[in-house]
Amino acid sequence: MPIATTNPATGQVLKTYEPMSDEQVGAAIERADLAFRDLHRTTVAQRAQWMNAAADLLDAERDDTARLMTTEMGKTYAAAQAEVTKCATACRFYAANAERMLADEPADAQAVKAKRAVVRHQPIGPVLAVMPWNFPLWQVMRFAAPALMAGNTGLLKHASNVPQTALYLEDVFRRAGFPEGAFTTLLVGSEAVDRILSDPRVRAATLTGSESAGRSIGQIAGRELKKTVLELGGSDPFVVMPSADLDRAAEVATTARCQNNGQSCIAAKRFIVHTDVFDAFAEKFAANMAALKVGDPMDESTDVGPLASERGRDEIHAQVRDAVDHGATLLCGGEKPAGDGWYYPPTVVTDLTPQMRMWSEEVFGPVAGLYRVSSYEEAIEVANGTTFGLGSNAWTMDPAEQERFATDLDAGNVFINGMTTSFPELPFGGVKNSGYGRELSAIGMREFCNTKTVWVGAGAASAGAGAHAE
Ligand code: NAP
Repeated sequence: MPIATTNPATGQVLKTYEPMSDEQVGAAIERADLAFRDLHRTTVAQRAQWMNAAADLLDAERDDTARLMTTEMGKTYAAAQAEVTKCATACRFYAANAERMLADEPADAQAVKAKRAVVRHQPIGPVLAVMPWNFPLWQVMRFAAPALMAGNTGLLKHASNVPQTALYLEDVFRRAGFPEGAFTTLLVGSEAVDRILSDPRVRAATLTGSESAGRSIGQIAGRELKKTVLELGGSDPFVVMPSADLDRAAEVATTARCQNNGQSCIAAKRFIVHTDVFDAFAEKFAANMAALKVGDPMDESTDVGPLASERGRDEIHAQVRDAVDHGATLLCGGEKPAGDGWYYPPTVVTDLTPQMRMWSEEVFGPVAGLYRVSSYEEAIEVANGTTFGLGSNAWTMDPAEQERFATDLDAGNVFINGMTTSFPELPFGGVKNSGYGRELSAIGMREFCNTKTVWVGAGAASAGAGAHAE
């Protein structure tokens, strides 16, 4: 894949980059390693000052950055502005909370026959971040803010279609005051990941991306015995039960499917509706989807911009055609528009069967699959009947049913009467083929920390240190 900015609204290539040479990558790893030796000895307060400065830069430069993101991957300008603001908020959150999250945790010294025992969270070194284009700033920031606050250094291999956003991120951290090498963008293709992760100076990797990239990076990391966090694809269920507020559910369902032009890992993708309210919900949902305005992502009246790549649009159209060819029914959309730009209309498909690709594959665009079920048990069976397990949504006013969904949905998160989203305060990640490990919250920060047991004995003969091995 060439490293280039190509405007999805026009198909025009605006800027191309030569990939970095092996020597340049090696030098960047060396700088990250050297920077780590300094960074992890700085105080949390010092790092917080730099992180707050990064937040201030993000806020001050929001509109230019948003325009850049829209140009590189097609999200609406309004969504891009909101993404920049979310990143600044996350920087401030980790600046304010890292001290508490990284503080020593005292253990029961008497129980472990110590004078003093604590659990200490220490950074591990340079971490490779392989990132996707769909939230080109946020996906990186939710790794970078906690990792840098913990004292790690970051090496970013961003998606090849967002090189300018990737370079901007490096620039922000540098201008905020972080030392040279603390956060470096590597302009390389995916074939360079093996070499980088095999370098002994690189201690771990985090990937947000597809299942196939996850398998590949997981294999390399397994061979090299390195820690990974994998945030992969999803096919989130959105269950609607008879007690739900149907107007609200249909409204949120539309946003949950079409936000970011339908290209979100945690977009609701399969709408599983109880038969008692199926027809009413389907009518409202299809009407909402059909009413969305598709067009120029810079226009503030646009709801859905172009898909990020022609390949991505071809893929979702092929999934829709496959369903229709096998007997599915289109409630709206489903036609690939002529003209420039990789636009695709919001589409609702129903009467799906397991023979159709849409039943089991992730659909990465504004295309919803609608499923009819006749009981709670069947709703759970369809919702969990996927190899993915990232997010999940259930709509019901019945408190007992809410509790059952919270327990029974097999996913990294459950949002009841709302749509899945991410917050710096809450852990984020998946189960099954959606990956493993967690980002965000203290749990996410500690993924790239050495959780070190510190045991201090009295030092006198009677203290009985370490009577039993292991
Ligand atoms: P992708 O093709 O897997 O690319 C993601 C990143 O991985 C890019 O930097 C890409 O580099 C790199 N990459 C791809 N194949 C690789 C390989 N074999 N070895 C090493 N690196 C590799 O995914 P995408 O199409 O950009 O993003 C969409 C996918 O990401 C969807 O499945 C979506 O659900 C998932 N996603 C998950 C989350 C989450 O939090 N769980 C969030 C957002 C997106 P190049 O660009 O150079 O190919």
